[in-house]
Amino acid sequence: MSEPIILHNYVGGEFIAPSTGLYLENPEPAVGTVLSHVPKSAAEDVKAAVDAAKTAFVDWSARPYTERADWLDKVANRLEERLDELALMESRDTGKPIKLAKTIDIPRSISNFRFFAGAVRHDATECHNMAGAINYTLRKPVGVAGLITPWNLPLYLLSWKVAPALAMGNTIVAKPSEVTPMTAALLADVFHEVGAPAGIFNLVHGLGGDAGQAIVEHPDVKLVSFTGGTATGRRVAATAAPMFKKLSLELGGKNPTVIFADADFDDAVQGAARAGFANQGQICLCGSRILVERPIYDKFVDALVKQVASLKVGNPSDPDTDVGSLVSLPHREKVESYVALAKEEGGTIALGGMRPELDGEHANGAFLLPTIVTGLDANCRTSTEEIFGPVVTVHPFDTEEEALAIANGVQYGLAASVWTSDLKRAHRFSAALDSGMVWVNTWLLRDLRVPFGGMKDSGVGREGGKYSLGFFSEARNVCIKL
Ligand code: NAP
Repeated sequence: MSEPIILHNYVGGEFIAPSTGLYLENPEPAVGTVLSHVPKSAAEDVKAAVDAAKTAFVDWSARPYTERADWLDKVANRLEERLDELALMESRDTGKPIKLAKTIDIPRSISNFRFFAGAVRHDATECHNMAGAINYTLRKPVGVAGLITPWNLPLYLLSWKVAPALAMGNTIVAKPSEVTPMTAALLADVFHEVGAPAGIFNLVHGLGGDAGQAIVEHPDVKLVSFTGGTATGRRVAATAAPMFKKLSLELGGKNPTVIFADADFDDAVQGAARAGFANQGQICLCGSRILVERPIYDKFVDALVKQVASLKVGNPSDPDTDVGSLVSLPHREKVESYVALAKEEGGTIALGGMRPELDGEHANGAFLLPTIVTGLDANCRTSTEEIFGPVVTVHPFDTEEEALAIANGVQYGLAASVWTSDLKRAHRFSAALDSGMVWVNTWLLRDLRVPFGGMKDSGVGREGGKYSLGFFSEARNVCIKL
């Protein structure tokens, strides 16, 4: 067993210890041993990081966008050189299968840097002609950006914010989840290695209530991009809104996968299984409520159970593993409490519902078998609250109207996937869903240019492509009389 790694904050281009001198233990969830000691930073550390970011802003914001884009490419290139190391660390830190970290998390993080380097190089602003005058839009950097990210896709979601924020000339104070800080620390290492200007990217580790809250409260943080749970997002909004900060909130979801009888059956089964259990069901976009048109309901449940039962659960570093460990033991407890609730609410556990029996070092990891629950009312708590784990509920429906009512009958509105071969229905249903994103006959097919975000309690604002460039800048109209 290797010694725990001691992490540092990264402030003004230097790796430093927290002012508190305190550290949090970060366990490796699949095995339970301590992977790292994480700085338990306080408001003082955040202040130092904001000061460094503010100083760096003067120079960074004045640099040509082409130069900023070149720095993003340098970061991307170095991340790519360290891909295997990053993937292994992401897998160990989160419990996710190495296969996923290697093919999705880290490659997409690299793409985020390359994409926003390209996006800012090819960006154009608007011009509005009017009688006797011309208007054009300038996009100015906002200032110091506070970036707060969750534990499920640590580097992927951090890079999704860091890249556009820097591209538009802002400087950054970032706080990753203290549950999964490892790849954020490696990203700081990469910024250092490539010699990026000191202070453009600052990293403060610590608890949300301490370091996170201090970032949101700091008056010199002019913009906050937050991804996390809805309850935390509400708190972030309550702090930031009276200070008139630019605010983007990417929050929770309880996403429907809607399967009509005319869908390609095998594709729909595969799609529903992937949407339900990718990353152990710990993706905000996961489809955890599966609605199936009654004529194919029984056949579909049988096929889904068979498909999901074939997934290999266990050691995340085994390249054949499909389902790894949950992110932590406390999170597994929360998910298991929903399995118990599902039973109390009258559900039938059609698959899973218990821990797998694993040998050796994984015997005490935070594993839970993929779980399929049937027979629940579509409005009960299990069917409507975000579980954020490998648990799906399956519900029959008789009409399109009923499917829509169930799909929309939750507080969330993040994503949905609809499976049908009827093109008219696909358009009609997509338009009627309360959802920021809809996939038809697929799930999680991403184009980085499209708007990403949710409605209702799933968030405020959109990121992605020009939406990110807009959010991470201030639009200024200049009107010139001719
Ligand atoms: P969380 O508990 O809300 O935490 C998110 C981040 O906020 C963490 O870094 C957390 O730090 C920090 N934080 C906590 N309290 C804070 C405060 N008062 N001020 C500022 N920051 C604070 O969420 P999570 O459990 O890590 O992640 C799971 C949730 O994220 C799920 O609800 C999921 O749906 C959502 N999510 C949404 C999207 C999306 O794009 N819509 C994407 C991924 C995940 P600590 O870790 O120290 O508490």
